[in-house]
Amino acid sequence: MNPCRCGYLGDPANACGSAPACGRRYAARVSGPMIDRFDLIIEVPEVKADMLLAPTANEPSHVIAQRVEAARASAAARQNQGADCVNVLLQPDQLADIINFDEDAALLLKTAVVQSHLSARAYRKIQWVARTIADLNAEAIISRAKIAKALAYRAMPLQA
Ligand SMILES: [Zn+2]
Repeated sequence: MNPCRCGYLGDPANACGSAPACGRRYAARVSGPMIDRFDLIIEVPEVKADMLLAPTANEPSHVIAQRVEAARASAAARQNQGADCVNVLLQPDQLADIINFDEDAALLLKTAVVQSHLSARAYRKIQWVARTIADLNAEAIISRAKIAKALAYRAMPLQA
């Protein structure tokens, strides 16, 4: 979704005429329970023409695809439920068996749940995302950094 009705909230080059209320009213059109169902919420800044035309040094898609395939194969082997059993398809009791947090990660997640009043659904989604991030990095144990990254992917930008 756009950051606000006019689309310019947070854009340094174009001012939103009635920030921050414009963004709050616009975001309120999507209910909290609906937002709670998203796995990832990521702020994507506008892409300027200069950026489109400039040569890029991004990681090639085929390299990313290989990393994703390796993570999926690793997850499927761990879960022992077939090649199509991705993390998000696991039931909560199955997820608990494969989460494997370190102590700092568990403490950060607990703190986030308490301080941000996260729902049980959000708690599970953060675990799924953190497990997937760790899988993409070929890490058996979910570290505090992976939980922090998963939490960052749930942050709603520009609503303050
Ligand atoms: Zn606006």
